[in-house]
Amino acid sequence: MKLSDSRYRSGTHVLAALGTGRLEAVRLSHNGKVSEIACDRLACGFGLIPNTELGQVLGCALTGRAIQIDAYQTTSLPDHFAAGECTGFGGSELALAEGSIAGHAAIGNLKRAKARFAERQRWQGFADQLARSFQLNEQLKTLAAPETLVCRCEDVPFSAMAGHSSWVEAKLESRCGMGACQGRICGAASDVLFGWPPLKPRQPISPARIGTLIALPDDEPTLERRETRA
Ligand SMILES: Cc1cc2nc3c(=O)[nH]c(=O)nc-3n(C[C@H](O)[C@H](O)[C@H](O)COP(=O)(O)OP(=O)(O)OC[C@H]3O[C@@H](n4cnc5c(N)ncnc54)[C@H](O)[C@@H]3O)c2cc1C
Repeated sequence: MKLSDSRYRSGTHVLAALGTGRLEAVRLSHNGKVSEIACDRLACGFGLIPNTELGQVLGCALTGRAIQIDAYQTTSLPDHFAAGECTGFGGSELALAEGSIAGHAAIGNLKRAKARFAERQRWQGFADQLARSFQLNEQLKTLAAPETLVCRCEDVPFSAMAGHSSWVEAKLESRCGMGACQGRICGAASDVLFGWPPLKPRQPISPARIGTLIALPDDEPTLERRETRA
């Protein structure tokens, strides 16, 4: 498989999308040199962030942005295992090796779990290299203009958030993070732009019909009730 492409421009980021009524060109910074390219479509990615919502609601401890695990993929809760993306982004091969270790460990077969340690270490090396190579350029933090939309669901611009001291304060004043995605997009952006760490998620993790919630039997052990009992 060929990974490199001569048209690939490393050290490059988008400064602005240009056009009247529709996208016509993109302005790029290529190692500090500014250029413009005509284009019809633009897709931007700024990295992938582990989804730790389920683990957090269960009460698993985090390390950085990922669920904390030990060598056998055990979380901070006994008999709770985590594998794959939620323990740190590293690609499908790493996720498969971790899942296999967690599965074997969960049924007490530590010998077979250990047999996959070397494979996991190999793919973790790849993940570490990936994280180093694609670390966010600090310059990206300075790109937002006052009118740049940070929360797309509620149309909240950078200027409406910049004066606040925390995510909660900004949320109450501007409605950022209160739309359809519930801060899943702008929460990560605000963490980078303003240094506001995301809040612990609350149930329901994904939108649920009122009818579904009403239909839950009273003795259904929801995560919150389990937390209260613990
Ligand atoms: C755009 C993109 C491109 C990628 N390209 C590559 C690539 O080329 N090569 C590579 O190696 N890796 C790639 N990856 C990464 C790869 O997809 C992940 O590393 C891998 O899928 C992690 O596996 P996982 O099982 O941990 O998570 P996932 O594959 O994300 O599986 C998690 C599952 O849990 C389900 N889930 C989540 N929340 C809930 C909930 N509350 N209740 C019930 N179910 C839930 C989800 O629906 C999903 O099915 C890419 C990722 C993205 C986003």
